[in-house]
Amino acid sequence: MCAAALRIGLTGGIGSGKSTVARCLVELGAGLVDTDAIARELTLPGGAAIEPLRAAFGVAAIAPDGSLDRAHMRQLAFADRAERQRLESILHPLIGQEAERRAALVHGPAIVFDVPLLVESGRWRARVDRVLVIDCNESTQVRRVVARSGWTPEAVEAVIAQQAARAARRACADAVIFNEQLSPAELDRAVHDLWDHWSAGPG
Ligand code: ADP
Repeated sequence: MCAAALRIGLTGGIGSGKSTVARCLVELGAGLVDTDAIARELTLPGGAAIEPLRAAFGVAAIAPDGSLDRAHMRQLAFADRAERQRLESILHPLIGQEAERRAALVHGPAIVFDVPLLVESGRWRARVDRVLVIDCNESTQVRRVVARSGWTPEAVEAVIAQQAARAARRACADAVIFNEQLSPAELDRAVHDLWDHWSAGPG
């Protein structure tokens, strides 16, 4: 008989190394459900979130091509907490439903839910068996995202300020990988060790 797949919620601040760890877990045999990718798909032209968002925020929320006007919504959500919550109250349930639909298609020992805002959204803790937090210093987050994506340091800092504090994220974790001064090989090793530990059974 096949044991139910272990449901792992993977989270971390921007630039912490979350996507790198997700790739490593996939190489080890986990199925991946990427909630950022789901959010993007839901907000493409014809995506399931488009009509609810148009109804809630008006035509200004939708770009001429029929996709969500990301720049407009980002500005609105950054400037006004209530508007951000309204946006999330539409998007998060749709993301959750689609994540479960994709998880049901996974065959394997584990499903990794890559959820950047796991701590912030509050709904995910109860949906997963384990929470894995990837953590590093904020200066390292900034340096990595500047190098990876060509953002300005100020842009990265603005995103960090919107995300959960590192301590809040760690408080929610079953395991933390401190991805600071680790070589890629050492990070890989840390993920392997955790995988072996969690694959060994409950506890
Ligand atoms: P996130 O998904 O959390 O935003 P990524 O996994 O994309 O972060 O990592 C951000 C950048 O930092 C990527 O270019 C990645 O290759 C690099 N990176 C992450 N961890 C390490 C590490 N331990 N050593 C070297 N580079 C790293």
